[in-house]
Amino acid sequence: MSKIILTGDRPTGRLHVGHYVGSLKRRVQLQNSGEYDKVFIMIADAQALTDNADNPEKIRQNIIEVALDYMACGLDPAKSTLFIQSQIPELTELSFYYMNLVTVSRLQRNPTVKAEIQMRNFETSIPVGFFTYPISQASDITAFKATTVPVGEDQAPMIEQTREIVHKFNSVYGETLVEPQILLPDNSACMRLPGTDGKAKMSKSLGNCIYLAEDPGDIKTKVMSMFTDPNHIRVEDPGCCEGNTVFTYLEAFSTPEHFAEYLPDYKDLDELKAHYRRGGLGDVKVKKFLNNVLQEELGPIRERRQELQKDIPYIYEVLKKGSEVAREAAAQTLSEVRRAMKINYFEDEALISSQVEKYKV
Ligand code: ATP
Ligand code: MG
Repeated sequence: MSKIILTGDRPTGRLHVGHYVGSLKRRVQLQNSGEYDKVFIMIADAQALTDNADNPEKIRQNIIEVALDYMACGLDPAKSTLFIQSQIPELTELSFYYMNLVTVSRLQRNPTVKAEIQMRNFETSIPVGFFTYPISQASDITAFKATTVPVGEDQAPMIEQTREIVHKFNSVYGETLVEPQILLPDNSACMRLPGTDGKAKMSKSLGNCIYLAEDPGDIKTKVMSMFTDPNHIRVEDPGCCEGNTVFTYLEAFSTPEHFAEYLPDYKDLDELKAHYRRGGLGDVKVKKFLNNVLQEELGPIRERRQELQKDIPYIYEVLKKGSEVAREAAAQTLSEVRRAMKINYFEDEALISSQVEKYKV
């Protein structure tokens, strides 16, 4: 069986370091590993419209931002198909059929949707499209017969829902769809990177992000004002590393090489943590180190982005070509789905001749 990747992002803003450690960095490695037959990367504009219906301009403006961030991180149109969700009408058609296989109560149990409804104050007026977005995500994944979906932890319930739909579809209509596997980051700090405010998750919608394209000065300001241990007041006080955002970011980003380069008094993060816990290590020193680490990681991405920004029509061309390729792949799956669901009337000779038989006089 082919090994196929499908993953994507909502064009609701520029991409941030949570996307980078949660999914983007891994995608680039997988793309370059040569182990996958196809890699599909989707800009999920239709999904973004489910909770931004009254602001289409925001979605429209952010398509190019996400595409620039993708390519700046190393997603390469020669190796991956970069495309825009709304340009593939087959995805909408598939969702319409999948809706028959999922109950309202099943959707209501989805923990990510529950949390997002609360975050958006949708409790009393949930748009139907938003409520059903896990179904649309199942269409995105299955239309490309994806075997592997590299995402952050918040997406686990969506992959579970997709697997259930695949199961149900195949058992009712016959073996047609492929069951995908989730691929989570192996570093637990990367699964759900907190925001700079220490909130549960860095998210475009919460405004607590360090963006990939951020200026060096802004990175520094954000790092220096980051949430730490509120009880670590004087340098000599013992500090706590759990729930301390600066340490969580160091877990996600720092390597022993960074220590050798910027903080050679410590061999690695374990030694730094031990000192912080004992007392005698100030937040400012740890934050300065984190700033160096982030500057080193984000500098090359920002420079590549600046190059890419010089030829915007080329980026749109990449997305247009990618959307054409993606549409062909989805159309193939759709024709198999229509056959399985017995709605392929005009290509079914046997159906027509059996009806002829029935009405023979
Ligand atoms: P929005 O607020 O519009 O939902 P978002 O910041 O949550 O935006 P998405 O486009 O929903 O971003 O997510 C894209 C991908 O990035 C998903 O795979 C998701 O799991 C991952 N991701 C998003 N935020 C984080 C985070 N803070 N830590 C790890 N992974 C993340
Ligand atoms: Mg999200």
